[in-house]
Amino acid sequence: PSRDQVSYFGAGPAPLPTPVLEEASKVLLNYNDSGIGITEISHRSPDANAILAHTQSSLRKLLDIPESEGPDGYQILFLQGGGSGEFSAVVYHMVSLWVGALAKKQQQGIDEAAKRMRLDYLVTGSWSLKASQEAARLVGAEHVNVITDARRCRDGKFGVIPSEDTYTRTKTNDDVALTYYCDNETVDGVEFPSTPSGQNLVADMSSNFLSRSVDVRQHAAIFGGAQKNVGTTGITIAIVSNRILPPHADMADSKLLRKLGLSVGPIVLDWPTIAKNNSLYNTLPIFDVWIAGQVMQRLLEQAPGDKSPRIATQAAESNKKAELIYSVLDKHSEVYQVVPDKSVRSRMNICFRVKGGDADAEKTFLKGAEGKGLMGLKGHRSVGGIRASNYNAVSVAAVEKLVAHLEEFAKA
Ligand code: PLP
Repeated sequence: PSRDQVSYFGAGPAPLPTPVLEEASKVLLNYNDSGIGITEISHRSPDANAILAHTQSSLRKLLDIPESEGPDGYQILFLQGGGSGEFSAVVYHMVSLWVGALAKKQQQGIDEAAKRMRLDYLVTGSWSLKASQEAARLVGAEHVNVITDARRCRDGKFGVIPSEDTYTRTKTNDDVALTYYCDNETVDGVEFPSTPSGQNLVADMSSNFLSRSVDVRQHAAIFGGAQKNVGTTGITIAIVSNRILPPHADMADSKLLRKLGLSVGPIVLDWPTIAKNNSLYNTLPIFDVWIAGQVMQRLLEQAPGDKSPRIATQAAESNKKAELIYSVLDKHSEVYQVVPDKSVRSRMNICFRVKGGDADAEKTFLKGAEGKGLMGLKGHRSVGGIRASNYNAVSVAAVEKLVAHLEEFAKA
């Protein structure tokens, strides 16, 4: 089939706007009339710098990110290593920050004091679980405090977000190097309805980046892989508060960390190094940054005027599309069962079972969908079922086709 005959609901990599890909195919051959393709130009060339600046400024406008200067400012970084790379980068950075602050306060008995350091994790799905496991691998499970594990509330399965009053937070705020959460759990279809509270809050927004407004100022850092709502696989975007970066913050040096049995991370994951070099410490895949910039430009054009945050227009569309799908699922609840609780249903990854998870019924549903060009609907291999990913580039028309299939299948 041709591209316009297919509606793709894959969870990531995910669809991109066709006009962006059409333009991409041209710039791959010849960027800006230079006779050289975009993947061939130097990441240090004026063209590359302009691409980088354009993508950063577009993102600032879309999410109302404070400017880059001063302690209240935020840096926008482009890294490699995916969302998973950031699971590690976050730990290296926040540990070094915590130890740096401790060393400034006290020199005597630092070994004993460092034992109190805790990384608080909210485990609400497969990705926050993975991030917490990476933290335990890097610094030892004794430093990781899973302050909530949503599976405990639901027969060992994800699908709820427990209320904050049930969290077993680390008692002393001074001991908390990090509070970590995943805003949207791609595999389990669970999304935070609002920002949780916590000291040094860090969020994984890989699968709902640029789909709604975010209070950036509540976060020490936000990160997300580009390959779902933002662009192509290859870059991860991190929005990092100046308060946790030099010169506003003291980082521990490698000697001290080693003395405490901790270590500094690889330099390509080191936020201060990447920030100092405006994401050009090493070769940046500038084509990926260009794609992200084009996607952001389209979102800005959709949102007329200067009303802030400019992402509100896309957010309204995301809500509308998600509502269309959930309402038909709820209407035929004898056929479809939405996996997560109503209060935490993801707008991005809509996870449901057909006939309580009947393997034949789900197979028939998927086969029927494929026959109509509705692709990528199979749930994650770890949980099964059906997952309709409703990212920004999935059009209302594609959602309407899916809704029609859901209706038709239920009636049959
Ligand atoms: N975090 C979330 C929420 C994800 O959905 C994913 C991947 O799907 C990741 C992290 C891991 O991203 P990557 O595969 O880029 O390492």
